[in-house]
Amino acid sequence: MSGAAPARVLEGAAGPGRLFPDVLSGDHLDGPGARLAVLLDPAFLTEAGWDPAARVLSPPAGHRLLGRELCRAGGCTASAHHNCGGVCYRCFTRLTEAGMTARQIAELATCVAAETVTPAEVLGRLRHLGQDFELDVADSRDGPAYRLGNFKAFLGQREHDRHQRFAASRGTVS
Ligand SMILES: [Zn+2]
Repeated sequence: MSGAAPARVLEGAAGPGRLFPDVLSGDHLDGPGARLAVLLDPAFLTEAGWDPAARVLSPPAGHRLLGRELCRAGGCTASAHHNCGGVCYRCFTRLTEAGMTARQIAELATCVAAETVTPAEVLGRLRHLGQDFELDVADSRDGPAYRLGNFKAFLGQREHDRHQRFAASRGTVS
């Protein structure tokens, strides 16, 4: 057998080991465990979602290496199910019970999670966005369709309609 000794954790003991609060909160480590703990970058552990007190790894869903595909339903934090068109099984069930086919679900850019946003809230948000952005409304077979256009306020845009209004009223400005 090789001579590598297993890492030793001395729970609650104030023995010869060292504390590594970013690795295992409250425990002393020595030997190979301590050598390994020294090599771990606390920023990496934090980024990876390590909780040293609960000793639970919860990788952030959007992490480039450790992440997972989230359900596309807005506000849903479940993992997307591989056969459900980019949504979780629960949202897939909800949407199919509402009459959508699997293909329609897969073609949606983003779905709305159940009971998180009401139609009145969506209209309120659109009205709010419409104060700052051009908002195009068109009829579609599924009801009104909204398209967010350019920012209304003047930030130096060359195509801003303020230039045309200014040119049109140039003769009245002294
Ligand atoms: Zn979902």
